[in-house]
Amino acid sequence: MKAKQVFQDMSPYTPGKQIEEVKKEYGLTKIIKLASNENPFGYSNKVKEEIPKMIDHLEIYPDGYAAALRKSLAHKLNVGEKQLIFGCGSDEVVDIICRTYLEKGTNTIMATPSFPQYKHNALIQGAEIVEIPLVNGYHNLPEMLKAVNEQTKVVWLCSPNNPTGSLINKDTLVSFLEKCPSNVMVVLDEAYYEYIETSNDPNSINLLGKYKNLVILRTFSKAYGLANLRVGYGVASEEIATYLNITRGPFNTTSISQMSALTALKDETFLQNTYQENLVNKKAFMSACDKMNLNYYDSEANFLFVQLPTTGDELFEYLLTKGFIVRSGEALGHPNGVRITIGSKEQMDELQSYMRQFLASHKGE
Ligand SMILES: *Cc1c(COP(=O)(O)O)cnc(C)c1O
Repeated sequence: MKAKQVFQDMSPYTPGKQIEEVKKEYGLTKIIKLASNENPFGYSNKVKEEIPKMIDHLEIYPDGYAAALRKSLAHKLNVGEKQLIFGCGSDEVVDIICRTYLEKGTNTIMATPSFPQYKHNALIQGAEIVEIPLVNGYHNLPEMLKAVNEQTKVVWLCSPNNPTGSLINKDTLVSFLEKCPSNVMVVLDEAYYEYIETSNDPNSINLLGKYKNLVILRTFSKAYGLANLRVGYGVASEEIATYLNITRGPFNTTSISQMSALTALKDETFLQNTYQENLVNKKAFMSACDKMNLNYYDSEANFLFVQLPTTGDELFEYLLTKGFIVRSGEALGHPNGVRITIGSKEQMDELQSYMRQFLASHKGE
């Protein structure tokens, strides 16, 4: 049966290669996945201890309001409980925003390349997509602002941006919010917030009081290491959050995921270690790239987008044979580079040596 017209040009999300798939294909025993910006250090041991306690009542629907997690997070962020919306990952919050605010006759503005789910979900709602190219990995906010017109409902800012890692700094963000019409929603996707180096600048939550059209997205999937449990959230004005909660499915997060997120929130040590390790390993990887004469975008996240003298696919394929899964730029709509998640020191050391081998074998081609 034919789906909506827009589906003629759409396809399902192609995920990064799965570990088991690569093991089989290349006859390898050890695979290191640096393709989806997951946490190489896993997740909090406190969560590991809690999970067995949560499996007693799987026959009962979860608390769709996520009251305990909501209370704890509202307190931590210093916002009202009614300002929060939880999703099955922040992916779902993106979808919920599109379903609530976009339809045929509206348009939505985003950077390119950026996180693909904005475009994907907006297209399904029938909105027109306006894509503004990045400049050196950074959002071009003046051009994004110029693109705003009467039909614009939502502008997406991804900071740090996936796949480049570049941060929209506080002054730039505030000046954008000052100039953006207040009837246009600004979604600030901070999936990598916990990795931001400038002491978590901007503290965007503080901007919510002044800019009622701002929606901030965060997630437990990245630095907290809970990607598999699917919990993300949005923080907005009470008015917006109320609409979003109407769209939200009644039981879109599970008790296990809610309790795990709540427990993870309290383990500051795990988060701090993740932040520190990432920073050290990223800096080391950057110097290694410098030595290999490879350029990369500024990154305040847990990945680096490295530009190559070859296609990204070539390095991607080469690394696969060595047991490393990275994400090729071609797959991300940004050719001749790869996005590499920062792994542990050992993982990155091994990866670098394979990258050097690859580059040596491509010299003078
Ligand atoms: C990973 C990611 C998300 C979504 O993560 P969830 O697992 O759905 O919470 C959202 N935005 C960006 C930019 C991401 O990289």
